[in-house]
Amino acid sequence: MGGFLENLKKIFTVPTGDTTSNFITFMVRCNKCGEEITVRARKNSDISRVSEGESPAGAEYFLRKEILGGKCNNLIHIEVCFGPGFNIISKEISGGKFVE
Ligand SMILES: [Zn+2]
Repeated sequence: MGGFLENLKKIFTVPTGDTTSNFITFMVRCNKCGEEITVRARKNSDISRVSEGESPAGAEYFLRKEILGGKCNNLIHIEVCFGPGFNIISKEISGGKFVE
């Protein structure tokens, strides 16, 4: 069952955005020098799965990353919780700001 249907599904459920890649991309701005930095988090290595009961608000994945820009030595630290399908539930940052 399902080989053909599975393929159809793949064709028709490609959502808008960059979900075909293995990366999740964030833009952050350094608090110190204002540099905007693009952060790419690898779904299969940077982002870890959260065990049930360990996380707030039904998060399934968790990302913790330190980012260093090219213009200064200010270290930016982000922590992001994802729900099913890698939708962002919560995000925190220190040393910088998320650029929407
Ligand atoms: Zn900076």
